Amino acid sequence: MSDTSLVRGWCPDLFAPMKARDGFLVRIRPPIEGLDARQARAIAAIASEHGNGTIELTNRGNLQLRGFSLDGAHLAGNIAVECGIADPNPARERRRAVLVSPLAEHDPACHPDTLLVSRRLQAELLAHDRLDSLSGKFGWGVDGGGFVPPGALFADIVLQAQQDGWAVRCGSLTTEVLDEELAVQRVVALSDAFARQPDIRRPAHNDGATKALLETVGFRKYLPTEPVPVFVLPVGKLPGRRVGMGLPLGRLQAADFSFLAEQLGKDRLRVTPWRGVIMPENTTNHPGFIVDAADPRLRIEACVGVSGCERATGDVAETALALASDVPSGCVLHVSGCVKGCAHPGAADMTLIARNGRYDAVRNGCTKDTVSWADRDLPEIRGLLSRELKEIQT
Ligand code: SF4
Repeated sequence: MSDTSLVRGWCPDLFAPMKARDGFLVRIRPPIEGLDARQARAIAAIASEHGNGTIELTNRGNLQLRGFSLDGAHLAGNIAVECGIADPNPARERRRAVLVSPLAEHDPACHPDTLLVSRRLQAELLAHDRLDSLSGKFGWGVDGGGFVPPGALFADIVLQAQQDGWAVRCGSLTTEVLDEELAVQRVVALSDAFARQPDIRRPAHNDGATKALLETVGFRKYLPTEPVPVFVLPVGKLPGRRVGMGLPLGRLQAADFSFLAEQLGKDRLRVTPWRGVIMPENTTNHPGFIVDAADPRLRIEACVGVSGCERATGDVAETALALASDVPSGCVLHVSGCVKGCAHPGAADMTLIARNGRYDAVRNGCTKDTVSWADRDLPEIRGLLSRELKEIQT
């Protein structure tokens, strides 16, 4: 891993590839409407011809392509621009980070203006160069609710659809409801306020300061955000003649992505922040894709581990897959290559941190929380899971 990757707030993207053990990696941010067949084909070709063929779906709805030379990574950027997937200006490209409800315009229960508002917000963000000083990790969302319930979409600042307009979710707070135009303006003003306060960086890092910034830009009311309800991942048959396909650990090969591209016709593929894709309902299944929401592989998270990262001390993907069937329904197991916790920065029902072939385990927390059981081997972890996760469920 490069030193830059450890700089606070730095985040690799299409124009700032990150050096990893298996080569440089680049991130591609799909358009708001999703990828058309030509763009999806181009991504598969970039991954297979210039990278090592591995494509990862990130929890921000982006595609991470691995195993590039530095020249290959630069070429990937040029091709993505030519295909209309990316903005040629690296600073503007970072400001395209708007995550959208993945069933917008398909799910009748999702707010009908979700895509329209998303395009408007993105256009406003692109027009404001002064937002360049925001952290590279800073992102926005437009949550239209529906099958994927309100609150499930997570970003630093989210426009949240309400019956009579749009509220703004920022950190742990949700504001009063505004009309669409004013809500978009306020999101830009609030983003600008964060850009001028480099010490605060991101809303989740400072509740008190976030309240002050909300007031500065004109919000009058803000309440604690309602907890996100437990929801079924958008996998299998979905509203709007769609099918959701999960990928084990959010990883697939370029050939699999090409297989999806060939089935799009004039339709589009959307990437979800739950490491899956949304496709037209007539998409042919493939042994590597998950179309059953009860599949235990949807309950595990793991980073690339020792095959792709210098900091990892174990094959965490293999461990997570081996333990998947021990994870009860409704629980999440995160197996991390080190304490950085890239695959699942938040809390999981059980988090394992690899340490030279053995694992430290955190119950109901993240990699940075106090370790509940240190230095366990795989059989011990398996016993722990069956005992402790059963307790969490009851
Ligand atoms: S969590 Fe995994 S990918 Fe992230 S730095 Fe640690 S070992 Fe590397």
